[in-house]
Amino acid sequence: MLKDYYREMGISGPVYDYCIQAEKELKSRFEEIDRRAEINQMKVLAAMQKNKLSEACFAPTTGYGYNDLGRETLEAVYADVFHTEDALVRAQITCGTHALALALMSQLRPGDELLSPVGKPYDTLEEVIGIRPSVGSLAEYGISYRQVDLLEDGSFDWEGIREAIGDRTRMVTIQRSRGYASRPTLSVEQIGRLIVFVKEIKPDILCMVDNCYGEFVELTEPSDVGADLVVGSLIKNPGGGLAPIGGYLCGTRECIERAAVRLTSPGLGREVGASLGVTASLTQGLFLAPTVVAAAQKGAILAARIYESLGYKALPGAGEERYDIIQEVEFYDPDLLVAFCEGIQAAAPVDSFVRPEPWDMPGYDSKVIMAAGAFVSGASIELSADGPLKEPYAVYFQGGLTYPHAKFGIMMSLQKIVETGRLSL
Ligand SMILES: *Cc1c(COP(=O)(O)O)cnc(C)c1O
Repeated sequence: MLKDYYREMGISGPVYDYCIQAEKELKSRFEEIDRRAEINQMKVLAAMQKNKLSEACFAPTTGYGYNDLGRETLEAVYADVFHTEDALVRAQITCGTHALALALMSQLRPGDELLSPVGKPYDTLEEVIGIRPSVGSLAEYGISYRQVDLLEDGSFDWEGIREAIGDRTRMVTIQRSRGYASRPTLSVEQIGRLIVFVKEIKPDILCMVDNCYGEFVELTEPSDVGADLVVGSLIKNPGGGLAPIGGYLCGTRECIERAAVRLTSPGLGREVGASLGVTASLTQGLFLAPTVVAAAQKGAILAARIYESLGYKALPGAGEERYDIIQEVEFYDPDLLVAFCEGIQAAAPVDSFVRPEPWDMPGYDSKVIMAAGAFVSGASIELSADGPLKEPYAVYFQGGLTYPHAKFGIMMSLQKIVETGRLSL
């Protein structure tokens, strides 16, 4: 019956059979992911029960938003899930970049130095930091920046990091996910070792982790291994596909206090910020996040397996340990990259009838193709794919609210690739 459905929706017999075979080989890997999702589900559920989440929490507030029970409860739940003293979870935090900028700008003062010991940070942070000159950057406020790149093999440059830490080093920023760069994603364990190392050299350094795309992939979070702040976007993993907007910061009481007064105003801090009726979605999204992240991971692994077995390079490989939900496949062929994205778009629940085309996106030095048909605009926890049209013509693929949909998306990508005539199964 499933095969009939797939056929009706444009998947040929050989493509179907090829994908089903790859899926069969992943059985034990998928079981391990489901086991983790179950543990993370309990972690979230326990936090909700402990903080007495109730129907009254979902009542919207407007205006100043004083005494917003739902907002306060959700923040307590986040703090418990991430095992931190406190959390700031707000619809007023507009996206991941905003959450990260807030984390940096609230902790750093003129004369301080920020260090990235893991190489270049995410693209959008370059303007926040002032690596690329930008109005309002940290650089404009007299906050300097230093960077120590990862070594050739992806490991930390311990000596370089030691030398880079000076009197002015106040904060360290660690990006967990590789994002869209060619470096490995860091495991929570690796992040923990880095934090211990940094704090041994200078104990008062604040360690912040950009946790985007990493939440619930492992059983622990960077806040379990010493991070003072973990930061992320609600239209990625922890929003579970339901959050329509928002960002979170979890961390020490002092760090969260500084972030709250920076987000709103000194004196007001966390006491204001009406929830406007989104609390139910943010909370239910967190509840669903562990299984949604599991679905996304299974999709990523299935894609890796299929394309690896066809001779393309998948990063990470299907058999490798995985610390975020992003999958890269290098096609070395623009037509295959475009076909892959067409397949993801054609498989979407929203905007399946449009065809993505490469375009000159601001801030990129080559054309970029993007495929997404999401319920929440721009949400990359929903099935999406994109890639710059330049060597190695790699697609970055992530998300999937349900595994069956991620699987269908991957099958459709293979179908479109086969239809180019450049590949036969
Ligand atoms: C997505 C992402 C960001 C920025 O988040 P936006 O919501 O796109 O602003 C920052 N860092 C990493 C690693 C990301 O994946």
